[in-house]
Amino acid sequence: MSDTDRVLLIPKIDNGIVIDHIPPGFGIAILEIIRRDPAMRDVVVTLGLNYHSSKMGKKDLIKLWLDELSPRVVQHISLVCPGITIKKITNYEVERRYVIRPPQSARNLLRCLNPSCVTNTEPNVDTNFTMVDEEKKKLKCMYCERVFSLKDLKPIIP
Ligand SMILES: [Zn+2]
Repeated sequence: MSDTDRVLLIPKIDNGIVIDHIPPGFGIAILEIIRRDPAMRDVVVTLGLNYHSSKMGKKDLIKLWLDELSPRVVQHISLVCPGITIKKITNYEVERRYVIRPPQSARNLLRCLNPSCVTNTEPNVDTNFTMVDEEKKKLKCMYCERVFSLKDLKPIIP
């Protein structure tokens, strides 16, 4: 099978969102973030793993039959996997594309693991984390100043 044949196996999207250039292996992690968002419950999704990429060798890819990704989801994805491309597709054409950058902070997105942190004891205090180690994905709570691994922090479900 040639590369052209393989590309044809990927279902085309008429209107929706394509999350592209996902490093291989991260597709499922990103799908997990999307799936946790209550607004995404009924959205039709296709997940592609290990697609051929001329730029990256291999890549994962997610297509969503959806108008817009929520800013929360984009922010969460950007923490896990900065550098991926989000494309808005209208009538089979790329209407808009942007590369998501690593954020400096994440406000009210993740819950602090310290039970005595003010964000857990006071109901109206928003959580706020800053990225202190981009490579190792370490985030610091701005209130109790403890540092956590991103993978251990649970998202706040709105
Ligand atoms: Zn805290």
